Amino acid sequence: MSHAWTIGDLTIHRIVEQEGGFLDAFDMLPDLSAETLSVERDWLTAAGALTADDRLSLAFQSYVVRTPHHVVLVDSCIGNGKHRPTRPDWHGKSDSRFMDGLAAADLSVAEVDFVMCTHLHADHVGWNTRQENGRWVPTFPKARYIFEAREFEHWRAADERAPVFPFQDSVLPVVAAGRADIVAGDHAIGDHIRLMPTPGHTPGHVSIVFGKGRDVAVAPGDLIHSPLQALHPQLSTRFDVDKAEAARTRRAFLERYCDTETLCCMAHFPSPSVGRIRSWREGFRCAPVGEG
Ligand SMILES: [Zn+2]
Repeated sequence: MSHAWTIGDLTIHRIVEQEGGFLDAFDMLPDLSAETLSVERDWLTAAGALTADDRLSLAFQSYVVRTPHHVVLVDSCIGNGKHRPTRPDWHGKSDSRFMDGLAAADLSVAEVDFVMCTHLHADHVGWNTRQENGRWVPTFPKARYIFEAREFEHWRAADERAPVFPFQDSVLPVVAAGRADIVAGDHAIGDHIRLMPTPGHTPGHVSIVFGKGRDVAVAPGDLIHSPLQALHPQLSTRFDVDKAEAARTRRAFLERYCDTETLCCMAHFPSPSVGRIRSWREGFRCAPVGEG
């Protein structure tokens, strides 16, 4: 099934690989109180963001953005055949959902000009590579892969201390194949595509901004995971490397786009995942935008 939005001179497709209950809300958001969850449970459940057993429901997906000049894949999801022993749903999987999603968007791997990773966690780099004759090769053969320099260095150093499997199987083979561009956090490509530093979740985390002369659409990656954090931006996840910085970045993002027309393409929000930021109660919400 294809999900698509047309806005200005951009077309945006969502390529969903998995969606559903992920981690227990209190486990994922260590500062979440039982009282807060009980107050917010009803609307979270109605929005598809919370399961009956209080797990946060997340989508795992990529966005394809077509500008007048380029086809960009933002974050490459989970991937197949990857060694992810701590995540049974991701470990060594072999389903066709991601590739079916590309086909439904009428897109071949050869058409992608740029693969842009907001950061280098396993669920954002997986389809960077696929296995061919026992080796990892770039999935998108003609694409340049854009990695932010500080992010790349963070994971290179971590991998030196102890093996970081996503870095080894989904980032380094792209570098070895000569397809990677290691760029600054404010890198731009032409007049429609630019990075915006949004550190905290990881040190070199970036958001990807699209639109000529204004922010028509933005993919904020993992600076936010759940609609609960839009209402309560101070709630960082246990995966945020610097929780205080992540909270500052999250609030700054919500304030920047609040009550604007910028289409926010959320990485992990439940379907439809795409919406506009609006002020709501003491915080914010992402008001879903219908496809079309
Ligand atoms: Zn993620």
